[in-house]
Amino acid sequence: MMLPEQHIAAETDRLFKKLENLSWTRTDCQLYAPLTLEINQLKKEQDAIILAHSYQTPDIVYGVADFVGDSYGLAQIAAEHPARKIIFCSVLFMGETAKILSPDKEVLVPSRAGCSLADSITAEDVRGLKKKHPGVPVVCYVNTSAEVKAESDVCCTSSNVVQIVEALPGEEVIFIPDKYMGDYLRRMTKKNVITWPGVCIVHEEFTSDAVKAVREQYPGVKILVHPECTSSVIDLADYVGSTSQMLKYVGDSTDVSPVMIVSECGLADRVKAEHPERQVVGACALCPYMKQIALKDVQVALKNPRPEQRVEINPAVLKKAKMSLDRMFELTRK
Ligand code: SF4
Repeated sequence: MMLPEQHIAAETDRLFKKLENLSWTRTDCQLYAPLTLEINQLKKEQDAIILAHSYQTPDIVYGVADFVGDSYGLAQIAAEHPARKIIFCSVLFMGETAKILSPDKEVLVPSRAGCSLADSITAEDVRGLKKKHPGVPVVCYVNTSAEVKAESDVCCTSSNVVQIVEALPGEEVIFIPDKYMGDYLRRMTKKNVITWPGVCIVHEEFTSDAVKAVREQYPGVKILVHPECTSSVIDLADYVGSTSQMLKYVGDSTDVSPVMIVSECGLADRVKAEHPERQVVGACALCPYMKQIALKDVQVALKNPRPEQRVEINPAVLKKAKMSLDRMFELTRK
């Protein structure tokens, strides 16, 4: 696709304004401009929107995404937006969630990337848990397959997990599959929480020693921690929340002290790009699943999708999985 030079120059400027705080040069932006222009044009022609998780790379987040956020916010957009087609830049379970919520829309994923949490548990495992703990409600984290959601009573995300568990009747709950979030839940509720040994390999990487070292080096630093981290890291947090909640915490604060984002590097990048007044310190961690998508895959998904890029779900599974997501929206609306 040949594009007039002035369009490329204008797109280069647009990208550079957004990415210069992330050390992108004008030349970097110029290289990406033809592809972002083409993708944005294809979106318009096809009545498509691009949803991107905050952990995606900056060229996707700032170059082509219409909405950027965490699993809860993006799931709501997938359910409510009138576009005919959704391109979900994230991992497979999020594309599946969009399809469950919008079964009549065409949902495509640039990559069918997995997730260490979603891959840790099967529907058969959930049936086994229910057999072992009859009558105990099953709350599944959104980081699960459609089949696992279909076997669960209600879904939740990191931003509403406590609210969902508290809203359920009874003193006991089965929470799957993140064992660290289950530990966090035990501290935040009085319920007996039965967990599954799944972990997020990215958030598990952070150690309390590394966080303490940052605190010593930057007195006054605010430590923001994702609830998928271990208890010993959560103990050191000034704030615990989902990716969107952490971003809001930074945006709402009048404080200008440095921040450490104990999460995936994409979120640290968003803070740097959108809040250049805040110094981001300490190391972040890269998710090998989230980072499987290149801008080129987004173009392919729009132009000539590969069969594996289309998200299809067995109708019976979809119907049951939708019930667990609808229950989440119902409980969080109250
Ligand atoms: S960051 Fe963790 S939970 Fe999120 S996709 Fe990567 S492995 Fe899964």
